[in-house]
Amino acid sequence: MKFSKAEYIWLDGAQPTAALRCKTRILPYFSPVDANLDKFPEWGYDGSSTYQAEGHSSDLVLRPVRVVNDPIEGEGNYLVLCEVFDEQGKPHATNTRAVLREVLDNGGKKHQPWIGFEQEYTFFSNNGHPLGWPQGGYPAPQGPFYCSVGAKNAFGRKIVRRHTEACLESGLSIYGINAEVMPGQWEFQIGYRGIEGESADPLTISDHLWLARWLMHRIAEDEEVTVSFDAKPVKGDWNGAGMHTNFSVNETRKEGGLDFIHNAIKSLESKHMEHVAVYGHGLDERLTGLHETCHITEFKSGVSDRGASIRIPLHVQEKGYGYFEDRRPNANADPYQVSARLVKTVCNV
Ligand code: ADP
Ligand code: MN
Ligand code: MN
Ligand code: MN
Ligand code: MN
Repeated sequence: MKFSKAEYIWLDGAQPTAALRCKTRILPYFSPVDANLDKFPEWGYDGSSTYQAEGHSSDLVLRPVRVVNDPIEGEGNYLVLCEVFDEQGKPHATNTRAVLREVLDNGGKKHQPWIGFEQEYTFFSNNGHPLGWPQGGYPAPQGPFYCSVGAKNAFGRKIVRRHTEACLESGLSIYGINAEVMPGQWEFQIGYRGIEGESADPLTISDHLWLARWLMHRIAEDEEVTVSFDAKPVKGDWNGAGMHTNFSVNETRKEGGLDFIHNAIKSLESKHMEHVAVYGHGLDERLTGLHETCHITEFKSGVSDRGASIRIPLHVQEKGYGYFEDRRPNANADPYQVSARLVKTVCNV
């Protein structure tokens, strides 16, 4: 008999930053054309081992919400992203995806929001240093590493390449990759790609980002490399890791869109504290006003300005419509919460 392996993936209740969990279910074989959501049964797990329940009442429910091909195990195997519910069928308190669904259903969808995340991250080798850093010391000052090529400056490309391939094989909306300013640090983007017929709605893209994070951990695991999404993985004069979030709605993408963007920026300024509250743990350590950030206590916007909270890309300014970039979110932020907050503020939900 032939089987399909289904990797059930969900978010735990770790504080202050949720982590990914997974376990494998063996199912009778079905091919990718038949791999609909309803082929994957609900499953349970021990919530007392994931910081989501007390031991005396610990059963939680995994409900599959998105299925993609599993590029690690190959054809006929699947990654199954799940939401967590309690035994009464209510979304668990840690189920932030349910909150985003609600915001979209309560008026967000009407504006057709599109989103794109720039996910920065840092590789750590077994010796506890970022990949490529000398044992017990520091590399040359930042400068040559961003978008670099060559073994002197770019560290970890083997994993990066395998991850990009894996995202493409699973049909995730990966947009691009680059080596970052700090050695051992990289970025991949997931989101709007301008490809005909493709969706860039925040729910789909946030699901894709969590699956892409899982793939990054999983692929690096085989190389005994650890992936850190920490906002300030190395203290001192080194760039932090962010998750710039690019956002547009119907109104910003057509003639006169720039006016809508300027109004949205006013709303974003008035809700700065509410945004900062869900933009990831340790935000104050990263938003210092240095290293291409705006200080956390300030709100600034600007065209082409990498020291701003909100940046309007030059080409958007020139065309008069398009999208804007929120530069505040940390690399460790939860895309469901970032999306929900942006839709609430910009679409006035
Ligand atoms: P940066 O110049 O800030 O490094 P990147 O090239 O890394 O930007 O990433 C660009 C991001 O903008 C991608 O995540 C992409 O999905 C997103 N993006 C492009 N167009 C739109 C749009 N119309 N709406 C929302 N996001 C968009
Ligand atoms: Mn058991
Ligand atoms: Mn980028
Ligand atoms: Mn970057
Ligand atoms: Mn950016």
